[in-house]
Amino acid sequence: MSEDLFLKIIAREIPADIVYETDSVLAFKDINPQAPLHVLIIPKTHIRTINDIQLEHAGLLGEMFRAAASIARDNGYADDGYRVVMNCNEAAGQTVFHIHLHLLAGRDLSWPPG
Ligand code: 5GP
Repeated sequence: MSEDLFLKIIAREIPADIVYETDSVLAFKDINPQAPLHVLIIPKTHIRTINDIQLEHAGLLGEMFRAAASIARDNGYADDGYRVVMNCNEAAGQTVFHIHLHLLAGRDLSWPPG
């Protein structure tokens, strides 16, 4: 999959169902949803994997989690619960190499994940 697929979504070169946007964060519905609500929250800055996160990104990561909580709350899942997950590299299932939080809600989510 393209290294910069999500940069193309940020640039509106590829369409996406955008649900949240600030100057530094974008969130849009996953094209292959794994739950009734499945949103991807990405930084507008390109960060390839969790391994590339620097201390200077701390605020940005905080914004991404706040966005996830806000979207979950707006969709009525704050009290029932939801899952936020980020995959790192191939063994964990990362296919797009621009970090993204998966926000999953609307069904019972088993643990441990597969
Ligand atoms: P990963 O496997 O890297 O953790 O997650 C990548 C996610 O991006 C997958 O859940 C996949 O369905 C989603 N995805 C891949 N291509 C597109 C796309 O073009 N548009 C949207 N909205 N989601 C995509």
